[in-house]
Order: sequence, then structure tokens, then C-alpha cells
Amino acid sequence: MPQTPHYLIDLARLRENMDKIAHLREASGARALLALKCFATWSVFDHMRDFMDGTTSSSLYELRLGRETFGKETHAYSVAWADHEIDEAIGYADKIIFNSLGQLDRFSDRAEAAGIAAGLRLNPRFSTSGFDLADPARPFSRLGEWDMARLEQALDRISGVMIHYNCENADFDLFDRQLTRIEDEFGALLHRLDWVSLGGGIHFTGQGYPLDRLAARLRAFQDRFGVQAYLEPGEASITETTTLEVSVLDIIDNGKQIAIVDSSTEAHMLDLLIYRQDAKLPDEGPHEYQIAGKTCLAGDIFGTARLARPLEVGDRISIRDAAGYTMVKKNWFNGVAMPAIAHRHEDGTIRTVRSFDYDDYKASLS
Ligand SMILES: *Cc1c(COP(=O)(O)O)cnc(C)c1O
Repeated sequence: MPQTPHYLIDLARLRENMDKIAHLREASGARALLALKCFATWSVFDHMRDFMDGTTSSSLYELRLGRETFGKETHAYSVAWADHEIDEAIGYADKIIFNSLGQLDRFSDRAEAAGIAAGLRLNPRFSTSGFDLADPARPFSRLGEWDMARLEQALDRISGVMIHYNCENADFDLFDRQLTRIEDEFGALLHRLDWVSLGGGIHFTGQGYPLDRLAARLRAFQDRFGVQAYLEPGEASITETTTLEVSVLDIIDNGKQIAIVDSSTEAHMLDLLIYRQDAKLPDEGPHEYQIAGKTCLAGDIFGTARLARPLEVGDRISIRDAAGYTMVKKNWFNGVAMPAIAHRHEDGTIRTVRSFDYDDYKASLS
């Protein structure tokens, strides 16, 4: 058993998600690309590659990682490419998706010269995001073009569009209605394209999601417009596959029982702070503890755990759902030991694939 803290990826759980993705691809004809900004832990790509079509990216480094470690179809997107990045990016990409007409004007001839497909991000001006911070349709959003005249200007240089507007959307009927809105508002444009990426944010690997209704809807969309649809699942690919394993270092009673663990929200589960959410902690019995991190940030609190037995120093706690937007954001705040990365294999054995030490901390600055 590796030392704590570590992220523990359960390969059997990952396989369940992969089976759903493979089924959706087969039943719908749509392709599925892993969104690396959500999850880029490449040590498990051998367990994902056969079930997905490739990767999509949000920067040159993600793009290169996708090409090098996942392979297959590799989409390149960035909110803005720099002049010094573009040729290298085109060298890794099968398709390059520009965020604005300005970027398309600047770089599309290079994509064309290299013989790769170019696309543009289309912003439909609605989304399912409940957080302003993460809402691509927020007022004055810089994510994609929406004006029909501007989209028309791009048409002779693009073969497809990327439309990312869902966020952990577990409601198929809402997805269906919004796709209909896209069909109604942008249908004339879609008819003239070869491919349409519907982005990520569809929670189709969740319990009880009507996968076959989604497959039928995607097939109808593709048939109607004569396009190849792509999905870009990030969170849906790895949801509920991973835990952050921590140990109790101290127990304090300051009017509340507080267990301090060898980890930190800010360093190891940053999104909890950004989105003001509680960690998914054990809920098993009457003994209640606030689970808190070991940094000197006063609000470094994971949430409340309810346990069957009183906690003791040295006890282990598993914090659920620690893959998406978590491992990609870990950092060295407070110099807290970086969680190792371990795999739980289908036969139950646990193997550490990466651990970090003082030299990694030191090398992260100079
Ligand atoms: C973030 C993002 C994704 C992945 O979103 P999930 O909610 O993790 O599925 C896919 N495509 C684009 C363009 C994104 O920005």
C-alpha cells in the first residue's frame, strides 16, 4: 500500500465508463475524444485508448501530450495560438480548431499548407453551466464566434465547428432541446460542414443516463446535416474512478471535532475552493468530523465526514471523485507533499506509478 497522500485510480471503475463510451460510439456513429484539460494522467491511457477515438486539447502542451501518449485522432484547440506555437501545433494535430475569426485569418493558410482540417469554435450563446466562472455563454464571452455573418466569412476555410456549451449536464431532455435550438439557429451552416463537435459536459456515463436515447439523437443529428459528430468527454470519461487517499495526522476539538489530514484542498483538490463545494467524504455512521487540510490557509476544509467509529490518528480516509479537474490542477502550495499516483488493478493489486519528492518541489521554481 503506497504512503498517503495518493490519488488511487480504480481500473475496474474506469473500464465501466469506457464500456459506456464504446457503446455510445457504436450505437451513434459519433466519435469520442478525451478532453485533456479535465484529465491528463497518461499512465492510464493504455486502459482508455481502445474505447475512445483520441484526444482534444486546450494548449500546445496538452496537444503534444495527446499525440505522444494517447495517439489516434488528435484535435488541437486553443483560445489563442501564439505565432511561435502554430507550426509545432499543426505538426501534432489532425484538426485545428480556432477560437476566433481573427485567429483563423492569421493561421488557416498554414493549416491548409500542412493538409490538416481547420475548424472554428461556434458559441451558441446558451449553456447549461450554473457557474458564471465556467459559463461559456456568459456576457461578452470570448469563447467562440456566434455572429452568422462572421461565421459565413469562415466557411470557405473550415470543414467543421466545435460547440462546447454543456457542463455536467445529466438531463437528456435538456440536451435534446438545446441541440434542437442549435439545429434551428445554425442549421443552414451545419449543412455545409463535414464535422461538428458538440464539446464535452454531457454526463452520459452517470447512473441511469438514457444512453440509447442519446445515441439515437446523435445519429439523427448526423443524418440530418450529413456531418460526423464528435463528443469531447472530460469529466464523463473518468467520473467516480479515482479517490484521494489521505491519513489523519491530528484530531482537534475547537467546539467541533476536526481531523487534520496529510493533504490540502488548495493543493490537491483546488476546484472545491473555486466552486465552493464540499468533498465527497464517507457518510457511514454517527461520528462526525470536519476533515481539514494541513496548509495554513484558514479555510482549507474538505467537508464533513460521518463515520461508523471514532477516528484515530493514522486512520485512512478516501475522498471520492478525485480525477476530473483535480489531478491536472495539483500544485505545491505550502510545500505539502504531492500525492503519488497509484492504480488499483482489476485483481485488486495496487501499484504506484509515480511519486513526487523534494526535488520535484524544488524543480517547480528556481
Ligand atoms: C472543458 C472542455 C471539454 C470537457 O468538458 P467536460 O465537462 O469535462 O466533459 C470539452 N471541450 C471543450 C472545448 C472544453 O473546453
